[in-house]
Amino acid sequence: SKGKIITVVGSGLIGRSWAMVFLSGGYRVQIYDNQAGQAARALLDVRKQLEELQEAGMLRGDLSATQQLALLSSHDDLPQALEGAFFVQECVFEQLEAKQEVFRAVESHVGEGVVLSSSTSCLLPSNVFSQVQNQKRCIISHPVNPPYYVKLVELVPHPETLPAVMDATYTLMSEVGQAPVRLRKEIDGFALNRVQYAIIAESWRLVKDGVISVKDIDLVMSEGLGMRYAFIGPMETMHLNAPEGLQDYLQRYSQGMRRVLEAFGPVPDFSGEAASQINKEMCQLIPSDHEHLSVRRERRDQLLMGLASLKK
Ligand code: NAD
Repeated sequence: SKGKIITVVGSGLIGRSWAMVFLSGGYRVQIYDNQAGQAARALLDVRKQLEELQEAGMLRGDLSATQQLALLSSHDDLPQALEGAFFVQECVFEQLEAKQEVFRAVESHVGEGVVLSSSTSCLLPSNVFSQVQNQKRCIISHPVNPPYYVKLVELVPHPETLPAVMDATYTLMSEVGQAPVRLRKEIDGFALNRVQYAIIAESWRLVKDGVISVKDIDLVMSEGLGMRYAFIGPMETMHLNAPEGLQDYLQRYSQGMRRVLEAFGPVPDFSGEAASQINKEMCQLIPSDHEHLSVRRERRDQLLMGLASLKK
């Protein structure tokens, strides 16, 4: 990473997180935002966060907070922010036109070899990069919030993306301590959200059909499935849950799995009476005002911090 420069475009929640992740790996980070003063504010916020992490003994990488901060600069001018970069991580609003415009502008200021990477959660690479001339160097690097503790990054190629670009991005993400996974082709929702939405949908149906409460379905995850999913996935779960491994698991349980799966209800519409009931039940547990939500978010991040160090 010695002296190599990464430009982060968009300095909101995710832009700041990416900056911290790259700084922890010793990269120079040039952060840009099109809202004047926003990148400078991001820099101050990153400083505060790095100092707090250092104090808590949770700072990532081998460098001190001061050393990491020395690698960070903020810019209100795009060409200046792109100067010398080998990798660009875009983190602007989740709007297709905004991202297309950003990549069109970025491409006009950087050389052919620079990797153009987007943080988009929901947009497909073939749409995000449709205005880019050289799509071979484009890729989506989708983080999970908060990336400092939840290390997964989904790498999703454009149909034109060179394998070398996928490999270089994979190497970069590993080097800075993230946990990259490769999708072999683009698909709506990528992998994480497809799995997440399947869980949300069935949880919703169980509550809506009066089978279980909001509180208890969340416990099914946090005290049940989630306990193992922090360390092993669904495939290894099957492999370990039968004496002779996955094949044995299928012999024992596939019929039952199919019977249950075939009885699943339709896709919920997430509105109407069910939505207001579920919202009401949730808000009785955690009121949706700023203060209560902040407390719970802080608790989540604290616990994730602990889990992240346990996983080390
Ligand atoms: P945010 O609203 O916190 O930040 C967006 C920032 O981009 C703002 O500072 C804004 O001023 C800036 N911006 C907007 N248009 C710009 C432009 N043309 N040029 C430069 N800067 C511009 O949003 P966020 O939560 O950080 O999300 C950013 C991206 O990351 C989105 O694509 C989102 O889908 C993705 N993402 C978010 C999460 C999450 O949990 N928040 C998780 C994974 C991925």
